[in-house]
Amino acid sequence: MTKYAMVIDMDRCVTCHACEVACRAHYEVPVPYYRNWVHPLPPQGVYPDIKKTSYVGLCNHCDDAPCVKACPTGATYKREDGVVVVDKDLCIGCGLCIDACPYGSRYINPLDDKVDKCDFCIDRVLHNEEPVCVQTCIAGARIFGDMNDPNSEVSKLIESGATSNFSSLVNVGPNIYYKDSRNVFPVVKASFPPREPIRPTPQKLWTNVVRPIMWLTIGATFFGQLAALALQLFKGESDIKE
Ligand code: SF4
Ligand code: SF4
Repeated sequence: MTKYAMVIDMDRCVTCHACEVACRAHYEVPVPYYRNWVHPLPPQGVYPDIKKTSYVGLCNHCDDAPCVKACPTGATYKREDGVVVVDKDLCIGCGLCIDACPYGSRYINPLDDKVDKCDFCIDRVLHNEEPVCVQTCIAGARIFGDMNDPNSEVSKLIESGATSNFSSLVNVGPNIYYKDSRNVFPVVKASFPPREPIRPTPQKLWTNVVRPIMWLTIGATFFGQLAALALQLFKGESDIKE
């Protein structure tokens, strides 16, 4: 069975941000949010032995995804091909998945108050197109494919040592792998978590979660009382007839 994964070749990445910008443009992601990012990290070490890199990241489409477990409506789920997606029709914008994700991969889109994140451009992939970031990368640093196909470039890179380096820190089965022969990835690990997610504001929690629950409770109580009254009246009438 197909299992989609991505390898990011840290040796090739020139931190040009083209992938990030292309993704933002394609999905109309408002600033300051991201579906995919190139996040510069502070330098490590002492001059002249300094290592500087960026955290090139996106949703890890985790095998044991905490966001899927946290979602109260089933809006976030994992497809059979391994891609973790969000069903916008079911999302209530509660932000529980944002808190659960250890990678800061999710945000609430202020345009529709729903959660959004990378979905490996699954609509494009199903039409035999590459994800936008892969197509845009000027350096060929993003490689996407089926890691269960032994002939895919992705599985060959994983076989030859590309690793999902965060797994020692957060063991949720991430499926973004890093090829890193310059050994810059410890810089990313040292700065983990590399980016904090932007959480929903209390106002959004009130609008999207607390207020609907409140109205639901009031409605249920009202109709419950109405039903009890109707039942009492009906019983009263039956008693009079007897
Ligand atoms: Fe979910 Fe975050 Fe893992 Fe993506 S990286 S699958 S959003 S827990
Ligand atoms: Fe790196 Fe490619 Fe993204 Fe540029 S487009 S930052 S080279 S991954």
